[in-house]
Amino acid sequence: MSNPLLENYNTPFSTAPFSKIKNDHFKPAFKKAINLAKAEIEVICNNPEAPTFENTLEALEFSGQKLNSISSIFFNLNSAETSDEIQKIAQDISPMLSAFSNDITLNKKLFKRVQLVYNIKSDLNLTAEQDMLLTKKYKNFVRNGANLTKKEKSELRIIDTKLSKLKLQFGENVLAENQDFKLHLTNKDQLKGLPESTIEAAQILAKQLQKKGWIFTLDYPSYIPFMTYADSRELRKKMAKAFGAKAFRNNDNDNQQIVLDLVKLRHKRANLLGYKSHSHFVLEERMAESPENVYVFLNDLLSKAKPAAQKEFDNLSKFAKKDEIVQLEKWDSAYYSEKLKKELFDLEEEQLKPYFKLENVIEGVFTVANKLYDLNFEEIFTIDKYHKDVKTYKVTDATDNYIAILYTDFFPRKGKRNGAWMTSFKDQWKKGLENSRPHISIVCNFTKPTNTKPSLLTFNEVTTLFHEFGHALHGMLANTTYPSLSGTNVYWDFVELPSQLFENWCYEKEALSLFAKHFKTNNIIPIDLIDKIKKSSNFLEGMQTLRQLSFGILDMNWHSKNPAVIDNVKKFESQAFKNTQLFPDVKENCMSTSFSHIFQGGYSSGYYSYKWAEVLDADAFSLFLENGIFNKQIAQKFKLNILEKGGTIKPMNLYVNFRGKKPTNTALLQRAGLLKYD
Ligand SMILES: [Zn+2]
Repeated sequence: MSNPLLENYNTPFSTAPFSKIKNDHFKPAFKKAINLAKAEIEVICNNPEAPTFENTLEALEFSGQKLNSISSIFFNLNSAETSDEIQKIAQDISPMLSAFSNDITLNKKLFKRVQLVYNIKSDLNLTAEQDMLLTKKYKNFVRNGANLTKKEKSELRIIDTKLSKLKLQFGENVLAENQDFKLHLTNKDQLKGLPESTIEAAQILAKQLQKKGWIFTLDYPSYIPFMTYADSRELRKKMAKAFGAKAFRNNDNDNQQIVLDLVKLRHKRANLLGYKSHSHFVLEERMAESPENVYVFLNDLLSKAKPAAQKEFDNLSKFAKKDEIVQLEKWDSAYYSEKLKKELFDLEEEQLKPYFKLENVIEGVFTVANKLYDLNFEEIFTIDKYHKDVKTYKVTDATDNYIAILYTDFFPRKGKRNGAWMTSFKDQWKKGLENSRPHISIVCNFTKPTNTKPSLLTFNEVTTLFHEFGHALHGMLANTTYPSLSGTNVYWDFVELPSQLFENWCYEKEALSLFAKHFKTNNIIPIDLIDKIKKSSNFLEGMQTLRQLSFGILDMNWHSKNPAVIDNVKKFESQAFKNTQLFPDVKENCMSTSFSHIFQGGYSSGYYSYKWAEVLDADAFSLFLENGIFNKQIAQKFKLNILEKGGTIKPMNLYVNFRGKKPTNTALLQRAGLLKYD
């Protein structure tokens, strides 16, 4: 049987042949491609010649290309256009893929060859990019235990099995606790303050559970509007306390022991691999590099943001006094923030939306990219798509060179997951004289136009589109030799720089006037609205910052020191929070027992990176602000030193090459309006 996934894609720009692909093609294609990749690796391992950079590292880098291509197509479909059938295939092939990747990292012959090259690397005259590839590949083996003795390796495997069970249990407990609580209301007076849509959702939920009245839960779509709008302080308190007590109630779902076991095992694992702590292990492959650097970063921001946060807290307390609130509590925060924001700015989404018709915003994104990087976007209709809503563009530069293919997929539908993301169907790479260009995609979930109404974006959606397009630029302009170092393949505390940087143009009059035009009158958005957008985006920024910093510090405290002596989760947490708390502590509540980011997801020793990325983008944008937001020379510098370079050089060096100096947090503090409190 012929299989389009395994043949050469005979398509324009060698794009994915979606119209020919059937679900039945995936499994056999994966099997065949894995075997192909295995055979390629066998050839490397059995090469009778002494290992060299070319016959080992480069050969390894370019092995498995067919497999990569099939994986990209498949997993992108699983995110954007999935079905029961595709999900079933994903379940079947995921173990095959992880077994294959384990086969590589545990392949002793292969590691031996890589190690031999690594040991003589200073004699090899490698380019910076080659050096990075070699180091990255070598480290990948070592970080997975390649240098350990047989006994240590089996110990590592036991720890890993325990860790994955604990993480799973942690998540299941949080979920169970989430579902365990329901606020059931039957008196209409208790709903005062809530928006119609929230009440409606609560009514539907009650009906589903065959109850009278309204039911609110700890899920965000129910919890957040309740805490923001419900007038009843008693009920807000009840909800907040239930939320904060998740997996901290000494019942079957309690996570206290799991947290302690997790951090102790992570520490042991790091020690086994030769690192001082889990944070040291994680941060070796981050721009921040070390726990010391992260602490300096967090504490410096803390010292600057705290006075502002305290002032905001005092203002909010004063504002709440009108309701005879003597002590502002955690369950008052969202409620009074919203009321104060309304009083100060009175900015409604509906006022802004007419200025952000989707087509106009896309045109705006393309225009900004053209003014900065001379890119042109031409919609083309000859490329296969996986859904009729998808649009495809050929991207060219000023001299009409082909740069990339861009797919855009903007509207929600069954089979697409929530949120917005950038991805690729094909990475960029160079071989000999060929510079093979990338196929990049952005996927969002914006309101679909109807027959009578165009798609009008909220301001949040506008910044989302700019954000994802910033990632897309990183992918499209990539210009490296090796695909695993290309585009967005960078350390993850660096990957949000291009995306967050690009969001900055949404707040500038000079950029907005290019595309923010009323969809009926064509009038440009008024300047006072732009001012309001800017000011309201900084509203209570000090308190927000303090909150983010508190999570970052808690994460680092759990993971950067020997946890042997910790025996009480709440006590340890209170100690970590002591410099960042504005609200009185709630003794029945604990954050760590439901801190899924760091105990279930992949953010351990990485929570700081949210703020880190903001510091980078503000610092980078300040150079544009000083020289003009459409300054071509600055843009060119950013393109040459950052967008084109991917992960070929350490991010701090890339950044300094662009900026002329290391980033400081001054620009962020300025942008957030936090400096005036000094
Ligand atoms: Zn992003």
